[in-house]
Amino acid sequence: MRENDMIDHRRLGRELELFVSDPLAGAGLPIWLPAGAAARHAVEEYVRELERRAGYQHVYSPPLGKRELFELSGHLGYFADDMFPPMRLSADDEFVLRPALCPHHALVFGARGRSYRELPLRVAELGGMYRAERSGVLGGLSRVRAISLNDAHNFCALEQVGAEVAEILRLIREAHAALGVRPAGFRLSVRGPGQRYVGDDAQWARAEELLRDALAGVEYEVAPGDAAFYGPKIDIQIVDGRGRESTLATVQLDFDKPERFDLAYTDRDGARRRPVMVHRSLVGSMERLFAYLIEVHEGAFPVWYAPVQLAVLPVDAGQADAAADLARRAEAAGLRVEIDAAGSLGARIRDAARRRIPYAAVVGAREAADGRVSLRLRDGRVLDPLPVADALALVGDVVASRTGQLLPG
Ligand SMILES: [Zn+2]
Repeated sequence: MRENDMIDHRRLGRELELFVSDPLAGAGLPIWLPAGAAARHAVEEYVRELERRAGYQHVYSPPLGKRELFELSGHLGYFADDMFPPMRLSADDEFVLRPALCPHHALVFGARGRSYRELPLRVAELGGMYRAERSGVLGGLSRVRAISLNDAHNFCALEQVGAEVAEILRLIREAHAALGVRPAGFRLSVRGPGQRYVGDDAQWARAEELLRDALAGVEYEVAPGDAAFYGPKIDIQIVDGRGRESTLATVQLDFDKPERFDLAYTDRDGARRRPVMVHRSLVGSMERLFAYLIEVHEGAFPVWYAPVQLAVLPVDAGQADAAADLARRAEAAGLRVEIDAAGSLGARIRDAARRRIPYAAVVGAREAADGRVSLRLRDGRVLDPLPVADALALVGDVVASRTGQLLPG
């Protein structure tokens, strides 16, 4: 077997039943199976809570909207090649599947008058969007047509942009450390020849300068031609199992959309001023993130987002009650737990390890009588039997610490 096959997320996704791609559903439209959905749910909850504590306000907006919304935003003028064609309901009623969440979030800002006291106003959403990728480039979760993006738009006064971008970079580092993401590098993506851009040179120069300042002390390379059509950006790159580089997290400055949507706030002196719109994603899309996480962890996710955290293995039918009781207590403690009672103990232990379940709790006659349990870690280590409460506390500590380790540090 070639090394490349060892770390292909598509193969691991099948073996671990994380997601499935069915030609009947369509290429680039994967379906998340229960195990993959459980891991993704844990990650989404974590990111939402991280953002909430950092002052973000979460919204929901629909993944399609009227054609005029995306004409106003510039997407139909500059980005139509990457979008699905509009859908016509009647002669004057056309809808498009959105290629980005920015237009809806601009409407959130514009929903009422805004004061300088509200800035930075941070609008966040884990939302759906669509890209008309060619079928030849689609594969597993890394390139898809239906995208679930961890997205936010931070509306700031110009003088707040530097601190805001620095704080976003700090959040990106925190989230990546918890998930076990190892970024390959930082990139400053700027304008290049042969592409179309909105805005004037002075705006672009000012935005680039702000991003360079935010990157002070960080090693980065400059990527001409990789800017968004509306502004320069900082991209945090990852490398997949086949050595291909892509962008996971991003911070983008935009002076253009506030103009197009005529967004304004009332400043301290009563004047009406335009906010700057900072587009940012901490962890990118759930699809690309998991394509990466599956490969980098070889399916053995950190305990806090492992699909099943604890497998309960009664040695034989005599421990069925003790096993059920342990599973109930684990569930009550917030753990994702399964009882596996069918087949030989050896086969069940191997199966739990094959599925990368972090802990197998073996309950024999003596453990059941003593109210104890013997934990086997997925890396092969076996702990001495522990009282059930201690074993659950140990697993709970590892979950709460969000480390990549299997034992408390
Ligand atoms: Zn955006």
